[in-house]
Amino acid sequence: MASSLPPGAVIGMLGAGQLGRMTALAAARLGYRVLGFSDRPLGEPLDQVSPDRIVAAWDDEAALARFADRVDVIGYEFENVPVHAARFLEARVPLHPTARLLERSQDRLIEKRWIRSCGVPTAPFAPVDSVDALRMALDELGAPAILKTRRMGYDGKGQARLQGPEDASAAWAALGGAPCILEGLVSFDCEASVIIASDQRGETMCFPTAKNDHENGILRDSHVPSDLAPAIEHAAQDIARALAKDIGLVGILAVELFVLPDGTLMVNEVAPRTHNSGHWTQDACETSQFEQHVRALVGLPLGPVGLTRPVTMHNLLGDEVLDAPRLLADPDARVHLYGKGTPRPGRKMGHVNLLAKQDPAASA
Ligand code: AMP
Repeated sequence: MASSLPPGAVIGMLGAGQLGRMTALAAARLGYRVLGFSDRPLGEPLDQVSPDRIVAAWDDEAALARFADRVDVIGYEFENVPVHAARFLEARVPLHPTARLLERSQDRLIEKRWIRSCGVPTAPFAPVDSVDALRMALDELGAPAILKTRRMGYDGKGQARLQGPEDASAAWAALGGAPCILEGLVSFDCEASVIIASDQRGETMCFPTAKNDHENGILRDSHVPSDLAPAIEHAAQDIARALAKDIGLVGILAVELFVLPDGTLMVNEVAPRTHNSGHWTQDACETSQFEQHVRALVGLPLGPVGLTRPVTMHNLLGDEVLDAPRLLADPDARVHLYGKGTPRPGRKMGHVNLLAKQDPAASA
């Protein structure tokens, strides 16, 4: 069995947002330290809990080497870490998940081809590099469809919907002529996600499947347990296991899925990191996704993933964060704020885990 890093060891974290912050808090509870690296100026969510982050450009090899010298293992909390930086670091310090998986998850075309190669269905798609190619793809896939930039899209950004060929020029222009894929619009019943963790011995654990509501491309709520049939939940977990196995995962992989009216599943996208749809695990699961990430990184065995109480996770977007005092008056609400300054519309400022009321008879 791989030996684990001792308490006091330093986990390097690429990125400094809320996922890094919550991972650092989970790491601290187990006695580990987190050192961040990002090109963002100080003041990011991670900095308030882990203050000596290295601030440098992603191509600053001297700074990356300094970072590598100070950490024992490296994880990341956003998937747009430049791959050359990940590879530079991986040559010096163990990095989980690998730069190879990071690279796949950064490009929707490569990602979808990989998912299909594992025998897992996705929406129909075609690469698009010009407005003519877009017209041809639309012809092939049919309308309505969604044009997405291959890279740097998140929370519904970098996307344009097309009702028919007449929308092609405007959609292409809206995305700035960047390399894209066109996807057929899937008429799904609902969206779901599975978060899977793999430790350094190859043991995997799937958290219970969450059912997710999105609004304008942004996650609003995750519900666990989902009201999906057990067979669908298990099929979703089997898909996550197949992808994790194919890539030799160490760490966390989030898999977002569409559930079709006939109960079949399609993968929309994957993220090789902790995920917004797993925040419910902080208060309603035996082990949180953040602690699981830390365990996988430092070489500890994974923790149990049983649901301890039914829960709905609700994102606090923009001004909704001002509701925190009211939410905190509810004894079944667990509020998590990210320490971000300005509540711009749609910005993820925090979340609340609303636990199901406990039956007083059950605890009597
Ligand atoms: P994405 O950035 O790919 O995660 O897309 C954001 C959201 O847009 C998803 O959670 C879905 O609600 C919706 N969406 C994305 N791709 C498709 C598709 N091919 N068919 C239907 N809805 C989609």
